[in-house]
Amino acid sequence: MTDRSAFIRPSNMGAIELCHGKPLMEWRAVTMVPAIEQMSRPAAEQGTQGHTVVAQTLALTYQQPGGWTLPEDALNQMSMAMSKLEDWTKDAVRRCVAYAVALVDQAMGQGWRITIQIEMHLSGKGVNIERGGTADLIILCHDAETDEIVHVIVADWKLGWLDQGHAADHLQLGTYAVMAWDKYKPRQGVTVHLAQGRRQEFSSAHYTASAIEAVRQRIQTAVTEAWQDEPEVRADIDACRYCRALPFCRTAREHIMHAADQLALFGEAVTDRIQLAKDAAMARRFAEDAREVAKLWSTQNQAAVSEEASRG
Ligand code: SF4
Repeated sequence: MTDRSAFIRPSNMGAIELCHGKPLMEWRAVTMVPAIEQMSRPAAEQGTQGHTVVAQTLALTYQQPGGWTLPEDALNQMSMAMSKLEDWTKDAVRRCVAYAVALVDQAMGQGWRITIQIEMHLSGKGVNIERGGTADLIILCHDAETDEIVHVIVADWKLGWLDQGHAADHLQLGTYAVMAWDKYKPRQGVTVHLAQGRRQEFSSAHYTASAIEAVRQRIQTAVTEAWQDEPEVRADIDACRYCRALPFCRTAREHIMHAADQLALFGEAVTDRIQLAKDAAMARRFAEDAREVAKLWSTQNQAAVSEEASRG
């Protein structure tokens, strides 16, 4: 890992827009304590495994050399991988697969010839995201006669419980829309789908040329700010929740301390209970991450001491 570009990715764009300093702070944190990379969260691991199962099931359904397979048969072939998932993840996987199949059927029903791409890497050149990003599913809709790509459909799977909002407000999906637009230049634009399998919430948003340019501007502004020498660091639960720098971040800690002041028996009057609930969530995450980092640190130090002792 060489610089903060590793933390400027489509999946982080919403958080970076809230806290421009997040990539720099994360890079500093990981450089200082490399063990942070090993911090595990069981729910996140389930989500990652579920993602893999959705991708493999769709690949079995649509990308076998002999032709398409029924999604039920593909899911049956995935039974070994499915058996390792918790029940809620299995349900979320099935819903995401069913949603993908419905998108494919709908696109074909409109008379287009389609191409299906799974886990497709897209360049981030047009939004200054060096590493680009990987879209879970892309459906290219070609004119059946001319083969021109007229419409592009992008879908992203979310398998966790956290509410990700609506596709129209989701900057990660907006970033994919721009990247897909830049790559395929579809005359009828790009439609993005946010499939929240566990929550059973599915939403979509359509991007025309003007909407693409508006979201491109937002992303470029956030990325430019993130590359400043001293980017603004601003605490917000939606940015701090998954920030690797959280246990070391003075701004987040001060934010939490202010909330603690509000809760003190003879402290300030509570003015905004919703904000206070968000601050409490941030404090909990802060404590959990700090405990994990302390554990990792102590394991690392014990290993270093034992090695030193064995050398005599
Ligand atoms: S913990 Fe929060 S405030 Fe601190 S750098 Fe990360 S996102 Fe920004």
